[in-house]
Amino acid sequence: MPHHRIAIGGMAIESSTFSPHRSTVADFTIRHGDDLLTRYEPLAPDVDWLPLVHARALPGGPVDPDFYLAFKAELLERLRAARPLDGLVLDIHGAMSVVGLIDAEADLATAVRKLVGPACLISAPMDPHGNMSRRLVDVLDLATSHRMSPHEDAARTRERAIANLVRCLRERVAPRRAWVRVPVLLAGERACTRDEPARGIYGRLAEVERRDGIIDAAVWTGYAWADEPRCGAAVVVTGTDRDAILREARALASAYWRARTEFSFSAPAGDADWCIARGLGARERPFLISDSGDNPTAGGAGDVAYMLARLLANAAISSGQKTAIWASLVDPAAVARCVAAGEGARVDLTVGGAFGSAGRVRLEGTVARLARDAPVGGAS
Ligand SMILES: [Zn+2]
Repeated sequence: MPHHRIAIGGMAIESSTFSPHRSTVADFTIRHGDDLLTRYEPLAPDVDWLPLVHARALPGGPVDPDFYLAFKAELLERLRAARPLDGLVLDIHGAMSVVGLIDAEADLATAVRKLVGPACLISAPMDPHGNMSRRLVDVLDLATSHRMSPHEDAARTRERAIANLVRCLRERVAPRRAWVRVPVLLAGERACTRDEPARGIYGRLAEVERRDGIIDAAVWTGYAWADEPRCGAAVVVTGTDRDAILREARALASAYWRARTEFSFSAPAGDADWCIARGLGARERPFLISDSGDNPTAGGAGDVAYMLARLLANAAISSGQKTAIWASLVDPAAVARCVAAGEGARVDLTVGGAFGSAGRVRLEGTVARLARDAPVGGAS
């Protein structure tokens, strides 16, 4: 019996539409050939694996449309050359924004589907902080997402997407999907799966997928940092039994909806001044304050000086009676001024908004140390 021919490719980024940053080729790691296949080890044996091209970036701003179109053209060109295909692993995040598009992953998946035809099974491993739109679920055959946030199971999600695809091809199964959109949109910090209610909801998925007629069950929290109609929670249950997938998808969506007011931050949350006062009043050290609105790991630009301004507005901190460490701000011009002044020199700077975010703060002080050769940041 000839081996099934399965290609792998895709594009993954989480992009905040509120960030002034634009993601371009310089932000992506692009993989081809064996370099791409090693991302999916261990791959199922007895399959002809065809690596196409994959681009992955850390979270950032919306993708530059010229780069997106060039990448899409390369992916489609390689896909055309790899045909005929039995299957495709389309590795996407689900929260990619491209300037000018409103559902970038559906745009990419639709173009791919057009090329491979209706018989080729497309399986997508995704991130629960992505969005599963109606357009996207319609062009995929299998879609799943991580069941742990933080995503300690990312490799397992890819393995599951591949295993389900190979199983459907071997058993000649055409999977059906039940999709339910849940009108709830939460920041990722409120749906950590170490805490209830996310822990219980995501914890049910492995058990649901073991039931008769079910192949996979997945819940998307959605992506809160994009202003797009598709952003929101969704449930997809995949299987062969129409009634079973509908029943399970509705049950999971209802559980999510019923719990909507119980999702909360893993730590106490409040505005900046409240957090600073709590920190100064607490006996525990260190006391960490996280600004979730300018979180570079969720697409924030990292150039917002608001928390710095609030720290300096506190009399105990500005007088030196109390100390706080501020980490950190991206501002190449301010760094260049410090480098020019040298260690030990006094500087008077205005920092913040290097990429266009609002708010600048005047900062006077001494250059304590310069790290000229740091691989990230540094003097240049
Ligand atoms: Zn995520």
